[in-house]
Amino acid sequence: MSNFDVIIIGAGPGGYVAAIRAGQLGLKTAIIERENLGGICLNWGCIPTKALLRSAEIYNHMKHAKNYGLTADKFDFDLQAIVKRSRDVSKQLSSGVAMLLKKNKVEVLNGVGSLLGGGKVELNQDGKKTVLEGKHIIVATGARARVIPGFEPDGKFVWTYREALVPTEMPKKLLVMGSGAIGIEFASFYNSLGAETTVVELMDRVMPVEDEEISTMAKKSFEKQGLKILTSTKVLGIKKNANDVTVTLEDAKGVKSEITVDKVISAVGIVANIENIGLEKTKAKVENGRIVVDEYLKTAEAGVYAIGDVVAGPWLAHKASHEAIICIEKIAGQNPHPLDKSKIPGCTYANPQVASVGLTEKKAKELGIEIKVGRFPFIGNGKAIALGEPEGLVKTIFNAKTGELLGAHMIGAEVTEMIQGYVIAMGLETTEAELMHTVFAHPTLSEMMHESVLQAYGKAIHI
Ligand SMILES: Cc1cc2nc3c(=O)[nH]c(=O)nc-3n(C[C@H](O)[C@H](O)[C@H](O)COP(=O)(O)OP(=O)(O)OC[C@H]3O[C@@H](n4cnc5c(N)ncnc54)[C@H](O)[C@@H]3O)c2cc1C
Repeated sequence: MSNFDVIIIGAGPGGYVAAIRAGQLGLKTAIIERENLGGICLNWGCIPTKALLRSAEIYNHMKHAKNYGLTADKFDFDLQAIVKRSRDVSKQLSSGVAMLLKKNKVEVLNGVGSLLGGGKVELNQDGKKTVLEGKHIIVATGARARVIPGFEPDGKFVWTYREALVPTEMPKKLLVMGSGAIGIEFASFYNSLGAETTVVELMDRVMPVEDEEISTMAKKSFEKQGLKILTSTKVLGIKKNANDVTVTLEDAKGVKSEITVDKVISAVGIVANIENIGLEKTKAKVENGRIVVDEYLKTAEAGVYAIGDVVAGPWLAHKASHEAIICIEKIAGQNPHPLDKSKIPGCTYANPQVASVGLTEKKAKELGIEIKVGRFPFIGNGKAIALGEPEGLVKTIFNAKTGELLGAHMIGAEVTEMIQGYVIAMGLETTEAELMHTVFAHPTLSEMMHESVLQAYGKAIHI
């Protein structure tokens, strides 16, 4: 039996980051992974989707080459080459993780891990079982696509993100179920490359977690690009035909309709991988399908921790990695700050991009906070005009009494890079006065972050 200070089950951005940090702190560490190092994020999530979306972005720019004084009369895309590039990017990063784990003396074990209780973990390598002993065991087994009965992925007509990342042919007509970040990113990709795309959303607006104003702007922009969006609409059922599928929809008034498409992407959320990992052999508790942990990611079983998508949300890679660091540093006897979930940014890399942090305008009002709202449109920003990206908005929400920045919401080019400025500001408990005194480089898109604050206080210059 091998003994470790830390055994980690699952090598996604939660698990592998925990392993590297544990190695750095001199802990004897093993990580068990049944599939690919880097988990969903590097192999089937964050990274390969961004590689696909980059191809779509460049393709979109080519469509507008004339606007930039360029000629690109004959251009096309090769779907297989786009997919290959995306897979290569994932492979490159997954190998990078292998290198980092080696550098930090982490033992990588390919196989399936499960808890045995009493500080023991079973490693199953194609039926060959071994028992490992760990002073600390971290469950980082992540999540998988939620499947709605009737919409089980079949590789042919119904896809989850896994199939949607490696298409062998371009769908002509596509239905995307769900308009969260994952659904919208795939809709944006396939629509940009010419698939006639319809997005169905159960809630009354697209990207329902975002600020209402941003979500309205996003809808308009997607529709301008030809995406069809059906909000307040339920998917009732699916009938598979020889070459396509007919999906029955129902709107808010109960009116039923049918749509026939050659592919359906189901992007209706995720479920945690909590089955067959031996949780029942421990005192660890599960609530709402997620492992219950405290602020340092400890479960109810001494020495067993859980991080990432397998615990409460938001289910994002950067949240998983942050929990990993907190968990390991606490194990190592350090004094990490618990995670402040109110300051975790969320980004969607569609065309246009959407990024946000903190309270939406509606939420702040619901909480009874007196607010000041700043808005600055892309059309008033020199860099946005020079880039040929005049559509978008930077919106800021302040506590009217204290000047505390409560939230920021953006839509438009490169906002997924800009949001971090506000995240840092919120982390430092910055007030409107400090943001107004900050000098922003010219010409940059981030000048809009300044102007949005100025606008909240009636001091904007370029509007
Ligand atoms: C299409 C898509 C796009 C996304 N885009 C973004 C984005 O842009 N930004 C963002 O922040 N987040 C994004 N996410 C979410 C992000 O991928 C997850 O939040 C993140 O991967 C969670 O990390 P994790 O370490 O908790 O789990 P995972 O990444 O799911 O990793 C868990 C790992 O554990 C392994 N495992 C499970 N059970 C066992 C077992 N018993 N034994 C051994 N190994 C096991 C799995 O094989 C897997 O590799 C996206 C997700 C999807 C699906």
